[in-house]
Amino acid sequence: MSQRGVPRDIHATGRLSILARITIAAGIALAISLLAWRARSLDTGGAVAATITGTLALLAGWRWGILLVAYFASASAISRFGAARKNARTAGVVAKGGARDALQVLANGGVFAVAAALALALPQHEQRWLALGIAALAASASDTWATEIGTLYGGAPHSILGWAPVPVGMSGGVTGIGLLAAIAGAAFIALSSLALGWPVRVALASVIGGVVGSTLDSVLGATLQQRRWCDRCNRATERAVHDCGTPTRPISGLAALNNDSVNLLCGLAGGLIALAITG
Ligand SMILES: [Zn+2]
Repeated sequence: MSQRGVPRDIHATGRLSILARITIAAGIALAISLLAWRARSLDTGGAVAATITGTLALLAGWRWGILLVAYFASASAISRFGAARKNARTAGVVAKGGARDALQVLANGGVFAVAAALALALPQHEQRWLALGIAALAASASDTWATEIGTLYGGAPHSILGWAPVPVGMSGGVTGIGLLAAIAGAAFIALSSLALGWPVRVALASVIGGVVGSTLDSVLGATLQQRRWCDRCNRATERAVHDCGTPTRPISGLAALNNDSVNLLCGLAGGLIALAITG
């Protein structure tokens, strides 16, 4: 039989190909997430979130998928690089270490996933969604590279506002090396997008959006982001439970602004800035 004169087999083929695309995309995203889970770059919730993000990216196009993998692989590698020395230097200050959980994956990849979904739904505006998504990843890479390389090689960090000394690993602390790494991280994502054949103006807008986004991350880290205190060690920290096992108490900042929500906000800000630049 047919619907409105179109033979049924064409409808069936169309439906099958959409189903097949979703199946293939989800299969690839799941396989990569499982590898990252086995390598302990993701915990179980993180692997679920990464599978959803990866599926949306691959449905938007293979280049979206490759860029996401390039981002995640570089961020994981740079986080692992010198991990023992970094842990010793930050001494329980940083909020989370090790495998990324679902909230971290969404904080860093959520805006990119939304941009991919928009590219699927409204492909006529693909350049805008590219700017939004690539710059959000660039902001996240910029922040990750600055934190990880700055912690290893940056020496004593100072607050981005007022230049008072702050503990290594504390949000809002910056170093000269860290600022260079922030630019390099955003540039890495932008260059990757260029290598994938995406427009130069999107890449340039993504570097700007990425660096502004990660700078905003530091400013929020120095001002409104929640800080906590461990009474046993008499140390500032971002962890709810300190390394020593003691629950910490908030001393300043907003409860809603932890590392994850600040990362999400700064990725969104970076993406929107790039979107505004590309028009
Ligand atoms: Zn403690």
